[in-house]
Amino acid sequence: MKLVKNIESLSKIIDTLKSKGKSIGFVPTMGALHEGHLSLIKMASYQCDVVVVSIFVNPTQFNNSNDLSAYPHDLENDIRLLESVDCSILFAPSRKEVYPSGENTRRYKLNDLDKRLEGKKRPGHFDGVCTIVHKLFNWISPHKAYFGEKDFQQLLIIKQLVKTLSLPIDIISGPTIREEDGLAKSSRNSRLNPSDRELSAIIYNCLSKAKSMYKDNSPLEIISYTREALSKENRIIIDYIEIVNSNTLESITSYQPKIRVQMMIAVFIGNVRLIDNLALND
Ligand code: AMP
Repeated sequence: MKLVKNIESLSKIIDTLKSKGKSIGFVPTMGALHEGHLSLIKMASYQCDVVVVSIFVNPTQFNNSNDLSAYPHDLENDIRLLESVDCSILFAPSRKEVYPSGENTRRYKLNDLDKRLEGKKRPGHFDGVCTIVHKLFNWISPHKAYFGEKDFQQLLIIKQLVKTLSLPIDIISGPTIREEDGLAKSSRNSRLNPSDRELSAIIYNCLSKAKSMYKDNSPLEIISYTREALSKENRIIIDYIEIVNSNTLESITSYQPKIRVQMMIAVFIGNVRLIDNLALND
């Protein structure tokens, strides 16, 4: 695996690979890698000749400076994990390399997908996400790029970004990888203390219960049941619970047999914000 830190060297390597007709799969990450990231890298290595992984904790997508400074880093361990899978190039640039003239974001037309859920709660977050992903797409120009369903809204937004900008990149999604008790793997989980970690399994329990309730209960009933279950725990603060159309992210209030719907949850446990989601009908 080659570790590349600047854009000029990256471009040279990418140009050489392209001149040899190699297909390029790209997995953007913020590091502190876990099996969720590795599953995307494995998918990329089955489908492409070369896999590029980026590790960059993107400051412009954090609307809370404490969250940015508390974000876990462990480049040495990440390199060890990447060497255990089929990653050819690790691109790990500095902030100055990515944002040479200030940490500014662009605004994109995203069919209002960025106005809902995370977008409402974390103003500017998706401008930051789209700005960094657009830069990385320009530098790497991958054939395929891989994103997890764990960040379901982000996945839809990146699909829309590629459409809006007419970029010739296939966006491929990977399923959410979970711990044994159902908690979605996340770099932020390492910040949970042991009792909060144990409690956090409740998120997936609630999502699974919602799925089992979907046919016989209205979305509003399911949301109120879930809200009650989570509110019983005084260490949990609910940020949002919504049932939405899986394509538009619009809230659903009545049973919709023909539309794929997704339950979306964001909660704080201790001071750690966790998000998760599940399709309620397959
Ligand atoms: P992050 O490093 O958190 O920005 O995530 C990088 C990519 O990994 C994103 O596409 C995430 O959706 C994906 N990802 C994060 N956690 C998981 C998970 N538990 N299962 C599958 N994909 C994940």
